[in-house]
Amino acid sequence: MKILIKNGHVIDPANGIDEITDIFIDNGEISEVGVDPDLNGVEMEVIDASGKIVAPGLVDMHVHLREPGQEYKEDIETGTRAAVYGGVTSVACMPNTSPVCDNEAVVTYIKSRAAEVGYANVYPIGAVSKGQEGKYLAEIGEMAFAGAVAVSDDGHPVENSGLMRRAIEYSEMFDVVVISHCEDMALGEGDMNEGAVATELGLRGISRAAEEVMVARDAIVAEAIGGRVHIAHISTKGSVDIIRRAKARGVRITCETCPHYFALTEDACRGYNTNAKMNPPLRTAEDVEAIKEGLKDGTIDCIVTDHAPHHPDEKECEFGLAKNGIIGLETSLGLGIKCLVKTGVLTMSQLIEKMSLNPSRILGISKGTLSAKHAADIVIFDPDKPWTVDISKLHSKGKNSPYDGFELYGKPEYVIVGGEIVINQGELMK
Ligand SMILES: [Zn+2]
Repeated sequence: MKILIKNGHVIDPANGIDEITDIFIDNGEISEVGVDPDLNGVEMEVIDASGKIVAPGLVDMHVHLREPGQEYKEDIETGTRAAVYGGVTSVACMPNTSPVCDNEAVVTYIKSRAAEVGYANVYPIGAVSKGQEGKYLAEIGEMAFAGAVAVSDDGHPVENSGLMRRAIEYSEMFDVVVISHCEDMALGEGDMNEGAVATELGLRGISRAAEEVMVARDAIVAEAIGGRVHIAHISTKGSVDIIRRAKARGVRITCETCPHYFALTEDACRGYNTNAKMNPPLRTAEDVEAIKEGLKDGTIDCIVTDHAPHHPDEKECEFGLAKNGIIGLETSLGLGIKCLVKTGVLTMSQLIEKMSLNPSRILGISKGTLSAKHAADIVIFDPDKPWTVDISKLHSKGKNSPYDGFELYGKPEYVIVGGEIVINQGELMK
């Protein structure tokens, strides 16, 4: 299939492109970016992208697809369907499935299942430790050869510093990155951010120190051995400070945050709203400002969703009993535009860089670019066109989103994966 995307505002941070031009797609790949008069007479699909942004498809490196084992929450088909509706053409999925993705067989299963039913590209992340129990290293080499792009015990911290050190050293040999869920469990037990709101609501508070202690540890371990570590979902001012200083010293550390850490504060927990319960918890306005500052100055490399679908029974209960996490694949771009681009924190090009190019580079996958000969993964949206979130109309199995009724911008109108139009005028093609 040949596709011509005409007159769009093309943003491709990998190649420094930020201008009105055309993109020609042939045989699943980007053929060229630029206006080509020789295309007259060639039979092809034409998309008029006037007034819209044309960017590399988003790459979300922190997603829970729940398959195998928890298909009542989400599966690879529904999770990737939600992804493409959100403009996300590649996801990296966390290994806290059942069984845990800690061996070659589960990595291979996820990849083959995704090839069968997936709407987006799926990159499995293997576990750091067997069963994510934090005791013995998982078969990192085998998983890397089977296609795992990173390792993580996400959902749990790697509490043993020696194990973390060996994971970083060992992963380096296979060129996969360790993604660290930073939480000191002894400091982390609770329901929401520690502070006045938790006290007022009578809920158990989680100290910022629970996150920061582990961010500092990982920075120190990585520095000591010259290894590379990526910090998952940072939420506090202190974490931003620690990573900023580590980067300045030349430590090979990267990090991500999620839209909820710049779009919401702990106040969202009022009314015992379980859709505001997550781990790490929503923080204060001061932390939100620091997260924005970290995004602006490059301390924070990526924006990921930590898409964590749950069954209604796991959220429609007492706050203390509710599961952590929210869905996010269909709202991340809109929140990025609303909270970061419209407010001048990031340019559109910087937003695309953090949602597409940087995660691709960290994972070492050839995505997040519109370079010629690369698979044509593209999102097209109008950043000035408002839309209102209606949870009941989202496509994930999970409906646990705190954004019902939010007015966002830039709902994807066309999404192309591997040269195939998957979303056409906002609707799924197949
Ligand atoms: Zn986590």
